Amino acid sequence: MDAREVWRQTLARLESSMNPANFDTWLRPTRVIGEEDGAILIGCPTTYVKEWLETRLLPSIKKSMNEVGAAPVEIRFRVADTFTPPRPRTRLPGGSAAELGGGGNGFTQRYTFENFVVGPNNRFAHAAAMAVAERPGQVYVPLFIYGGVGLGKTHLLYAIGNRCRTYFPNARVSYTTYERFMNDLIKALREGATEAFRGTYRSVDMLLVDDIQFISGQEQAQEEFFHTFNTLHGAGKQIVITADRPPKMIVSLEERLLSRFEWGLVADIQPPDLETRIAILRNKAERQPVPVPPDVIQFIARRVPSNIRELEGSFNRVLAYATINETHLSVDLASAALDSLDGGRRTQLTPTKIIEAVAKHYGVSLEELSGKGRDKSIVVPRQVAMYMVREETNSSLEHIGKLLGGRDHTTVMHGCERITSAVQEDHQLRNDVVAIRTVLYDSLPR
Ligand code: ADP
Ligand code: MG
Repeated sequence: MDAREVWRQTLARLESSMNPANFDTWLRPTRVIGEEDGAILIGCPTTYVKEWLETRLLPSIKKSMNEVGAAPVEIRFRVADTFTPPRPRTRLPGGSAAELGGGGNGFTQRYTFENFVVGPNNRFAHAAAMAVAERPGQVYVPLFIYGGVGLGKTHLLYAIGNRCRTYFPNARVSYTTYERFMNDLIKALREGATEAFRGTYRSVDMLLVDDIQFISGQEQAQEEFFHTFNTLHGAGKQIVITADRPPKMIVSLEERLLSRFEWGLVADIQPPDLETRIAILRNKAERQPVPVPPDVIQFIARRVPSNIRELEGSFNRVLAYATINETHLSVDLASAALDSLDGGRRTQLTPTKIIEAVAKHYGVSLEELSGKGRDKSIVVPRQVAMYMVREETNSSLEHIGKLLGGRDHTTVMHGCERITSAVQEDHQLRNDVVAIRTVLYDSLPR
């Protein structure tokens, strides 16, 4: 028997003798990753799992290995990137999760890490979210995620909750919006039930609070939230908060809350670039009954600039349009479907307008942008202009080259690639692009 087969049979044996939730948490995500001095190396997704296996489960693992008839062999655990998503649960572990407050209609399982597309715009927030989901209360308390409308904050928040519940089936994970927290409080005050209110919010292992920007004003609710925060934090629990802006920008947020929000980690989500928008649509397209041609995906991704909710809406609209009209999907059809939606708003964004906006943002002249200057202060804006025209319009590389002083299409391609990779590392550059895009879209008639 080779090492993989030994491990496979050992796991099968353990699975039949263990509580399924425990098995899913500690053993299912392991893999044989190699051998070392005659020992079998087992990859584990996190240190936490590794330590648990070493300290608690090693005796039963050894016993099962014996039972499957493997020669006595040493095993070693390693944290390794071998993780494949655990089998999705078909049934929720009873009472382990709740949607706090009013509605109480369950915890959505629609939003997971598996269907969250990672791009330069959200890589940081995504990594932080994974860390928190897998090691709740240990890495960043709180994790504060902020970003504009429709960029995936709620999705990430639920993904954290869902993964945490898969890893720790007994953890009490609760999702609430700040608004609901406030309404519950008001109701509790009215009914003299504040103790019960506190009991609910302060007894969880992970509290996910969506859209905290509504905390502005509302002193009593802030006070209550402050104490909830402290209780959970003091007990080593995990708190994750989202907002549409960074903590500092939330007006009339009390200083003591602000400082607490900044205790852990503040992570931003930026609008997705073209590549990421395409990846998101491709991901959606894979789950459609009919194939969606790549040029249709490209077209929709170019057309909807930032908001992912709108991007999905446009995509669904195009599919619906094809179904209703009983035609196949094509760029023409997509164009017709979306024109009737936004009145051709996007067609007003011309390359010239974009180039002007870039020049203005960087304080350089149009002549300089099109000129021969090789200074960094000109080259960067020039490349940003190439990149943004490419992202925001359907212009060809040749056309962009012509607009920017008769440059060759390979020069334009090089410029676009430079910026595409630079925005992934360079925070300032990314902010520049977002700022220019915002100016451009704000200038369009609604
Ligand atoms: P927000 O809370 O920031 O306003 P949501 O989390 O509600 O945004 O996201 C809006 C929609 O876009 C949701 O349907 C969500 O699934 C989808 N979405 C956002 N980001 C991504 C992503 N990176 N990958 C896949 N889908 C995404
Ligand atoms: Mg949201």
